[in-house]
Amino acid sequence: MAPTAPLIFDGHNDALLHLYRHGGLVNAAQFVNGCAGAIDLPKARAGGFGGGFFAVYVPSPVGLLSTFSEMTKSAYDLPLPPPIPSCDALPVVMHQVAILLALQAQGALIICHSVAEIRAALAAGRIAAIFHIEGAEAIDADLHGLDVLYAAGLRSLGPVWSRTTLFGHGVPFRFPATPDVGPGLSDAGKRLIRRCNALRIMVDLSHLNEAGFWDVAAISTAPLVASHSNAHAICPHARNLTDRQLDAIRDSDGMVGLNFAVAFLRADGRMLDDVPLAQLLHHLDHLIERLGEDRVGLGSDFDGAVMPRGLETVADLPALRAAMAAHGYDAPLIAKICHENWLRVLEATWGE
Ligand code: ZN
Repeated sequence: MAPTAPLIFDGHNDALLHLYRHGGLVNAAQFVNGCAGAIDLPKARAGGFGGGFFAVYVPSPVGLLSTFSEMTKSAYDLPLPPPIPSCDALPVVMHQVAILLALQAQGALIICHSVAEIRAALAAGRIAAIFHIEGAEAIDADLHGLDVLYAAGLRSLGPVWSRTTLFGHGVPFRFPATPDVGPGLSDAGKRLIRRCNALRIMVDLSHLNEAGFWDVAAISTAPLVASHSNAHAICPHARNLTDRQLDAIRDSDGMVGLNFAVAFLRADGRMLDDVPLAQLLHHLDHLIERLGEDRVGLGSDFDGAVMPRGLETVADLPALRAAMAAHGYDAPLIAKICHENWLRVLEATWGE
């Protein structure tokens, strides 16, 4: 029997997007009873999924299937979808936040604003959720929207999901490629980082291009965090982090969450799901070597990407714990990767 402990607190999932696309708010109860997605209450209990960052994300109207087939090739460069105006993004964000609030009202999860709240939720056997925004399209240049979303519980934000926003530019889905593509943060983006620091909202570096990464590194007073990114040295995808970026994250005492998306794991960058768990361990070894044992966690991307065969849902997480143990990671290191490092960095970022 593969282990269901320690609990996994995960850096990124798109369960809210899945629910939004499959009936939306009126169907949110499917999370409680079991749904076709990678995360629901029964699967979380089966796999020892304690919670994590629940992303609010505005999808672009693009043909996902053609995108996926392009990414199965040995080299690709997908054009980024055009920017989304805030008037289009805002209703989608409101809908997904309403789903998150409904899940809390139904007792499926607890929206947490401090590490003390996360620890209490985990101890009570409840899913601990962080309200995260992946791409700040819904926020205006004056940042009034940021203050409102903070009041609604927002505690983590990525300025971009790859697609350009008025705050900055992201990396394209390009392989093989460096993340050094395009300009960095705009002036509004720099204001956004400073305001996030003031409110102690975590800034997520995943999806930012390298210029934007270094802009955040120069401005931010918080630990540098990439919630769901992998090692460029192993998989030279534009979405992954170079060793120089990893060193900056280490120096800030931040962390990286390992992304399970197959295209960011495989050395050949192809979006094919025959990926052995050993490939995840290969990235973890590299991340630990560059960052140290205290700065590596998980950032699955469940419900947002193609997962390795055998690791399709949170119910499969025991296989990953078993693989870490079989690889020689001791119990303290496994506990750090599963949740302790996330709680450490969040406490340093949030101050509570
Ligand atoms: Zn993402």
